[in-house]
Formats: sequence, C-alpha cells, structure tokens
Amino acid sequence: MHDVVVVGAGLAGLRCALELERRGLDVVVLEASDRVGGRVRTDVVDGHLCDVGFQLLNPSYPAVRSAVDVPALGLQAFGAGVQVRRDGVTALLADPRREPGSVVTTLASGLVTPGEVARLARWAAPSLGPVRWLLRGPDTSLAASLDAAGVHGPLRHEVLEPFLAGVLAEDRGATSSQYVRLLLRSFLLGTPGLPRDGMRALPAQLAARLRRPVRLGAPVELGAGTTVRTPDGAVSARAVVVATDLTSAARLGVVPQARVNGLRTWWFSTTDPVPTSRWLRVDGDRGPVVNTAVVSDAAPSYAPPGRRLVQATTLAGAPDDEGVVRAELGRLWSTSTTGWDLVARHDVREALPLVAPPLVERRPVDLGGGRFVAGDHRDTSSIQGALVSGRRVARVVATSLGVR
Ligand SMILES: Cc1cc2nc3c(=O)[nH]c(=O)nc-3n(C[C@H](O)[C@H](O)[C@H](O)COP(=O)(O)OP(=O)(O)OC[C@H]3O[C@@H](n4cnc5c(N)ncnc54)[C@H](O)[C@@H]3O)c2cc1C
Repeated sequence: MHDVVVVGAGLAGLRCALELERRGLDVVVLEASDRVGGRVRTDVVDGHLCDVGFQLLNPSYPAVRSAVDVPALGLQAFGAGVQVRRDGVTALLADPRREPGSVVTTLASGLVTPGEVARLARWAAPSLGPVRWLLRGPDTSLAASLDAAGVHGPLRHEVLEPFLAGVLAEDRGATSSQYVRLLLRSFLLGTPGLPRDGMRALPAQLAARLRRPVRLGAPVELGAGTTVRTPDGAVSARAVVVATDLTSAARLGVVPQARVNGLRTWWFSTTDPVPTSRWLRVDGDRGPVVNTAVVSDAAPSYAPPGRRLVQATTLAGAPDDEGVVRAELGRLWSTSTTGWDLVARHDVREALPLVAPPLVERRPVDLGGGRFVAGDHRDTSSIQGALVSGRRVARVVATSLGVR
C-alpha cells in the first residue's frame, strides 16, 4: 500500500508527486502513454525538435520559477513582441523596454493610433498592478470587455486578436478577460523561449527528480475507494490524485466535461532563404494561420545545421489542407514554400480548456473519500496553471493524510 497514487505524468501530476515526496510520502505515478509530459512533449524528426503543438515557456511564470531550474533548460528567447503581416507589409510591435530599437518601427507601422493605444492601455493597466487588483470586480468575456473599453481599431483586430487566438486556441473572444489580463501580465514580465532540448526538457527535469520513476504504459481505471486498476493489476494507496487532462478526468467520472479548444501545428524544414526572424509572426489579414515562426532562428537547437525550422499554427477548426497552409506561409514570409519539407504535423484537438468568465482561479480538488483531482482545468489552462494545481492538490492531500 502506497501513500498516494498519482494518475497522469503531465506537469500537474509531476509537480504534485514531487511536493508529496518532499513531505516524506510514498508516491507512485502511473502514466498511460509511453512518455512523461502530457501536453508538453517533443518529437525528434530527422534532427528537428518538433514540440507536439507549438508552445513557449514563459520564465516569468511564478510556478515555473519556484519549481524549475530554468537556467538548466538553456532557454532560447524569442523577441519580446510580435511581427504583424498585413497588406504585404511586415510591422514589428515590440516591448520598448526590452527592445528599445523597435520604437520607431512600431510607431511607423500604421497599427498604432493614439486613441486606441490610450484605450487599450487603460484596459490592460490592471495587468501591471498587483494580481488581486486585476481579479477585482466582475469578469466578462474578452470580446465584451474590449467592446466596453472602446477598443475597436487595428491594434485589437490585427494584432491582439490574432496573437491571442494562438495563445487561447479560440478566436471568438469567449475567454475570461481577467484571465487574458493575467496572461498579458506574464508576457510583460518575461520573455518566452524554448529549451535547448525542446519543451520535453521541462517535464523531463521534474520527472528526473522523483525518487520513484514514473510507471509508463499504465492506463488507469478507478476502482473502489482509493484503489486503481492498471493492465498489470490493482494499485492501492491511502489517497488517489487524478491528474489527467479534463476529458480523461471526465471519462473517469471525477469532473464534468467542459469545452476544450484545439490547435494544429505544421512543422516545415527548409534550406531556402526565409527572412531572418526571432519573432512570432501573426497575420493581421486574419487568414487561417494564427501564428508562425522561424523557430530555429530564435532556438537554433531546433534544427540540424544548415536547415531552418518553420512552424505554422492554426485553430483546430481551420481548413485541414497543407496546400492552404503553404500558400499562407508563402504570403506571410514573402517567399515560395514549394521546396519546404513537411517534417511533422500535430493535431492537438484538446489543447486548452476554455477559461470562460467569470474566472474561477481555484476549482475544488477534494472529491471526498481519499480522491482528489489536479490539472490545468482546476486552475488555469497553462503551464503555470498546471504546476500551481499540482502543488495545491499536494498540500490538500498531505493535510488530509495528517502530514504537515
Ligand atoms: C498545442 C499547445 C500549445 C500550448 N501552448 C502553451 C503555451 O504557450 N504556454 C503555456 O503556458 N501553456 C501552453 N499550453 C498548455 C499547457 O501545455 C497545459 O496547460 C499543461 O501542459 C497541462 O498539464 P496537465 O498536467 O494539467 O495535463 P496533461 O499535460 O494533459 O497531462 C495529463 C496526463 O495524464 C495522462 N492520462 C490521461 N488519462 C490517463 C489515465 N486514465 N491513466 C493514466 N494516465 C492518464 C495523459 O497521458 C497525460 O500525460 C499549450 C498546450 C498545447 C497542447
């Protein structure tokens, strides 16, 4: 009999197990798939590092700073801002504090009008203050909140919305505006990047710290009480933490199903000339590609010598057509993509649970009878949310087992 069984070796499950072990508990982590990391995984294809769905690690996330040895990841930073492609012209909108050289190009972009900047700045101002201010007052959807703030210009429709579509996996503005402000806060405080060994290095680092290795290939069904069943037999413990994704947790009957938004990432390798860019590029003309990047310009370890790796992300509901994506990339990078090799394509139909208004920062995690639930769907849909959830649940479990 173990103290705790953790079901799922995503970031939430790993963080939870580490915290429980730190408190001297005997923990076993059971993972259905053949590797740790859950939605944070990396495929290696012909020497290219292709994350399973393009994502970035923001080192300013407090939960990352406290749980992860960030320097050991060798983070390769993207530019602090975005490039916007519209009407055949590329504009750079960057954070002037970190990219002072960009001020002139930002002002000259035609995307910035004083009235809209002022209204957007007023709308975003809570992102810069204490978090408790940001969470004060009623919450509405992003779209309703921007409408109410009178933000209607190109900065909203050609920059903010396409950028957020890739971050939230939805483009209807249905997400909680308070949550979006929390995200903007982390972008203002930190410069996202990619680990030298791919995003997989993040869960790998956490897993390597566990005293007992994760048991892979162990899909779990819940049994009676605090016993779980795996193909190799039953495992009993004093407590069970279901740290799966939302849909798996719903299938196990521990939470209700809710909306989860999807993303599709296309990875191309090329030796052709592509404009050099360490920036995320968004489409101000609002085509199906919500963002693209020459990933290996910002993160050289992502491509073998002599090659460049380009990612293109669409929402899950966008046309599933390589020809369309190539044509869009040709437009976005002003180049021919016919010679580009498609090295990987990832359909993550369930990438991010929708964080709908009103924002519930901490959903209940104690199911009673020694069962608990963790995961980004309990806190917020992000690396930060998953790590916070794991630690939060570990504390609740430890208390329930009488461990301080
Ligand atoms: C394409 C994409 C882009 C993203 N971009 C960003 C980004 O830029 N920044 C950011 O902060 N976040 C981003 N995220 C979100 C972030 O990756 C997730 O919020 C986080 O990884 C979720 O971790 P988790 O532990 O809650 O769940 P998961 O990672 O889903 O882990 C759950 C684990 O449980 C396992 N499991 C499920 N059922 C069972 C079972 N019955 N038995 C045993 N094991 C089971 C699964 O195999 C999985 O390993 C992105 C996600 C995706 C997919």
